[in-house]
Amino acid sequence: MDTASLSGKELAAAINADTKQRAAAAGTAPRLALVVANDDPASAWYVNSLRKAAERLGIACDRIDLGADASAEQIRAELSARSADAAVDAIMLQTPLPAGVVLDDVSSAIVATKDVDGVSPLSLGLLASGLPGFVPATSEAVVELLKHHEIPLRGRHVAVVGRSNIVGKPLAQLLLAADATVTVCHSRTADLAAITSGAEIVVAAAGRAGLLTGKHIADGAIVIDVGTNESPDGGIVGDVDAASVTGRAAALSPVPGGVGPVTTALLMRHVVTAAEQSR
Ligand code: NAD
Repeated sequence: MDTASLSGKELAAAINADTKQRAAAAGTAPRLALVVANDDPASAWYVNSLRKAAERLGIACDRIDLGADASAEQIRAELSARSADAAVDAIMLQTPLPAGVVLDDVSSAIVATKDVDGVSPLSLGLLASGLPGFVPATSEAVVELLKHHEIPLRGRHVAVVGRSNIVGKPLAQLLLAADATVTVCHSRTADLAAITSGAEIVVAAAGRAGLLTGKHIADGAIVIDVGTNESPDGGIVGDVDAASVTGRAAALSPVPGGVGPVTTALLMRHVVTAAEQSR
């Protein structure tokens, strides 16, 4: 079987074209505050790519560096100050956080109207309740990528591998809202292959290079790879062993070039939406 490649580049370009127009129409450039409290190279790379994306779209982006040993109190104080600052439209808290700082503890200091990556307990609760709010961009990107490639969700069995608050859990909520039947797998799942090989759509979001191989995937299934893992040659690879899945799956999203560009595009769209709603 030929395995189609579910690229996200075309969809990201379309979202970005619209975002750029809306940012220009906003008058003063929409402003994103990116709060960083780590010295992780992968995070620095991601922050840099977000800043470049913002610049291309006419969005102002401030990087606020609190250092890798910032306390939970310092991070909360910064997020509260930016939440109260009328010049800031959107706030994003970069992970990883310093050892001992729990995301849910500090993210509640981001006001929901500026929480463009939907990470605060309030935003996640709104999503679980089916109420309007910002949705975590990565989870939204998975659903939008499937929609773009005309892959229906209603009534289909989707296995999500990963249960984090920023990817797996919100994704499960979005898939339920789209009428899919969802199984969430995680590090304590007893027989991963038995579950994923029974699913029509598999989404890998575990952060483990090569976790899913051909034996995890049913013939003709759709596979979305959210994982971004550093490869030995310095590039990035997904959670899916593409070589062993190719020829078995009907479609697979590439890493890089699949979920990633759509995630960034949606995040920037949220920034402009936050600006439009606050002015
Ligand atoms: P996380 O470490 O917070 O969560 C990983 C989840 O995977 C956990 O729930 C864990 O239970 C599960 N898991 C780990 N090992 C497993 C195993 N062997 N079998 C089954 N489940 C297992 O990670 P995260 O923040 O949710 O991110 C997941 C991946 O997605 C990472 O690779 C991250 O870099 C990537 N990511 C990509 C984008 C993007 O735009 N493409 C955005 C955010 C995160």
